Amino acid sequence: IQHNSGVGPYKGGLRFHPTVNLSILKFLAFEQTFKNSLTTLPIGGAKGGSDFDPHGKSDKEIMRFCQSFMSELYRHIGKDIDVPAGDIGVGGREIGYLFGQYKRIRNGFENGVLTGKDLLYGGSLLRPEATGYGLCYFTKNALEKMNNTSFEGKNVLISGSGNVATFAADKVMQFGGKVLAMSDSDGVIYDKNGIDLKAVKEIKEGRRGRIREYLENHKDALFLDDPHKIWTIDADIALPCATQNEINEEDAKTLLKNGIIAVCEGANMPSTNEAAKLFIDNKIIYGPAKASNAGGVAVSGLEMSQNSMRYNWSREEVDAKLYSIMTNIFDNIYATAKEFNNPHNLLQGANIYGFKKVSEAMIAQGVN
Ligand code: GLU
Repeated sequence: IQHNSGVGPYKGGLRFHPTVNLSILKFLAFEQTFKNSLTTLPIGGAKGGSDFDPHGKSDKEIMRFCQSFMSELYRHIGKDIDVPAGDIGVGGREIGYLFGQYKRIRNGFENGVLTGKDLLYGGSLLRPEATGYGLCYFTKNALEKMNNTSFEGKNVLISGSGNVATFAADKVMQFGGKVLAMSDSDGVIYDKNGIDLKAVKEIKEGRRGRIREYLENHKDALFLDDPHKIWTIDADIALPCATQNEINEEDAKTLLKNGIIAVCEGANMPSTNEAAKLFIDNKIIYGPAKASNAGGVAVSGLEMSQNSMRYNWSREEVDAKLYSIMTNIFDNIYATAKEFNNPHNLLQGANIYGFKKVSEAMIAQGVN
């Protein structure tokens, strides 16, 4: 789906998951347009993918699927046309195979065509960490500026255990918070001592295993056999980092009853409309995905800049830029929410602020 190129080339992630269908890609591309606008970088909105299920496939099967996929996709993309990246089921390995095939077909090293590349051939430092870290930078700003508090000493629930969730957990711990639980599609691990992140990474990335294997070496931990049960655990902050619609109305009511102070979204649209409305009506901090998870695509934008310059920024430089982008996103949408007399409605603030730039750019180009 190439949704909008008002402010830059189409840009968004590719998702490989059995639930992918046209309707899901349309909503993701629509959200991406306004998310990308919020980053202030020159990138339009897109999304792509397949209902191909990578689970249980060998490395060579993944490679062959990526090559076939690119054999058609190549004619629709380009560094100034449409720049895909990863999303659920598409990480550095898949981007490598996709790029290799693009290079083969085009007979040239045009690495600005994809982001999320390995450092070896034009990736950006901190791109893997960017969505999770950016989510925590956004949440830190919101906690300070809306509630005069911080992550220090807070209990945090992080759903998911993929790229976004693990780097969010990493940053929460660096900021002095305690991650009580994480999950995958089988269920939840709840460790009252705080999640041992190294063990989770070893299971999910190292062995591509199931999260319940955590219990083998963590005797105090519990396994809850439904991913929704993560929201029944008493905590201060919830960072949904798994997938769409993972917090429904009932989950939202439970979180509110347990006194949650902030729900900031790492996944794309993890809260249903009913759940989001409850958070906003109850005036807790609600960070909508298009703002709070924009760090990933923001560093993708920085990867495109570095590719154009044929130069690499240091980790510290990229991190400082990511921090300032997330701070600006929070400040801009909070100011807009206040301007519309709805200071707790960051969703409205994000929608208005993101839409304004896209619509003005389109009008300036004679599209109406
Ligand atoms: N899939 C990520 C997102 O939803 C990243 C997209 C990108 O880097 O282009 O924002």
